[in-house]
Amino acid sequence: MKTRFAPSPTGHLHIGGARTALFNFLLSRNAGGEFVLRIEDTDAARSEAAYTEDILRALDWLGIVHDGEPVFQSRRAEIHRELTERMLAAGKAYHCHCSQERIDEIRKSALERKEKPRYDGKCRNLGLPAAPGSVVRFKSPETGETFWNDLIKGPVSFANEELDDLVMVRADGLPTYNWAAVADDHSMGITHVVRGDDHVNNTPRQILLYEALDAPIPAFGHVPMILGGDKKRLSKRHGATSVMAYEEAGYLPEALANYLARLGWSSGDREIFSMDEMIKLFSLSSVGKSAAIFDKDKLDWLNSHYIKESSPSRLASLLLPRFEEKGYANPGEKVLEEIVLTVRERGKTLAEMARKADFYFRKTLTLNPGDAKKLLTPEGKDILRSFVEPLRNAAPSDEDFNRLLETLAASRGVGKGAVAQPLRLALTGETASPGLSDIGRILGPEVVTQRINAALEHEA
Ligand code: GLU
Repeated sequence: MKTRFAPSPTGHLHIGGARTALFNFLLSRNAGGEFVLRIEDTDAARSEAAYTEDILRALDWLGIVHDGEPVFQSRRAEIHRELTERMLAAGKAYHCHCSQERIDEIRKSALERKEKPRYDGKCRNLGLPAAPGSVVRFKSPETGETFWNDLIKGPVSFANEELDDLVMVRADGLPTYNWAAVADDHSMGITHVVRGDDHVNNTPRQILLYEALDAPIPAFGHVPMILGGDKKRLSKRHGATSVMAYEEAGYLPEALANYLARLGWSSGDREIFSMDEMIKLFSLSSVGKSAAIFDKDKLDWLNSHYIKESSPSRLASLLLPRFEEKGYANPGEKVLEEIVLTVRERGKTLAEMARKADFYFRKTLTLNPGDAKKLLTPEGKDILRSFVEPLRNAAPSDEDFNRLLETLAASRGVGKGAVAQPLRLALTGETASPGLSDIGRILGPEVVTQRINAALEHEA
């Protein structure tokens, strides 16, 4: 088995493309086959090296590993030319001299008659030579039926009369998508073509091209589309669609990979799969026939799961660049890991964790005026003042800190929360935070004292 992922570098790798890549990867690894990456960059005007970079980075990040070097379609012109010659020599293709105006005219009148535009075959049997501005067309069979047993959709067939003589090579000498894909899949020995179902209409044309080449026809599988929660095709309107935007937003690669696999594929009612488990269990027969719905809550749930499973040291190294980006000094591995432990359960993404840990790093805190007004009343400040002495020299243990809260609360006849909240606001700038004794330990007595004093000076 040899599968491929064949993205066009005309945009960032998006969720749908990444899922197609993943399915091809899982399929071939499951069968002990090969998985190759082909960058379909023949359209020079729309292709950009930066997008190729993005695709490679995103696949690498997700752990979707291709075999060998990536293949660039634009560098295979010689192979495309040879196969085109073969088709011409065998009488399976012909030079067409029809002008663009004529083609436009045919199109226009077909649309006026509410018919599907199709080339009328004017040059089909004229035996014309190549000429400047001419194109190469496929002599598509006019009768019969083209059938395949789709690996996902099941049996599919098209009447050949529906298909006109497609352009294989444009006037500028470049192969069209359908011809380049067949020429490459054939010459690269691809056995299984798995791609998005937006290509279903191309498949009968491609099968006819294989038949004309007298080449073995690969198996085809078309993966149903991904829809947003509103049942419309997934697009920017539904939020981020590019893979690297998910990295940026703080998703772990194994969470996104797991999520992408479950967009269409299932194995019982299980949700959590490592890459190795997916490789072991994957099969196209367990990919659903209907569209998959992108469910961000589920992705968040998986991400929280993988965050909780990650070691503090891994999370610390993933979070460090987020702190450095804000100009914060690296507090050292040990402190970072302690910080991680206090926010690990509090954020669904690395970005959220970083946001929740921000207060540890800030030189000065900005207190929300409403919270300050409520908590830093004369009485609140009085409570806050009573923490100065006990916290001045050392960070108390969890137990000692708890006792301190209890004593202060009892002496004032209020609840523990009432004494803790002014301190929480002073130390974090927030009214919800990790445990105060953890915070005291991580910040250290000096910063704690400084923050308490700053809050005491705060004019509400
Ligand atoms: N370059 C095509 C695309 O990105 C490839 C389709 C295919 O897999 O054949 O849609």
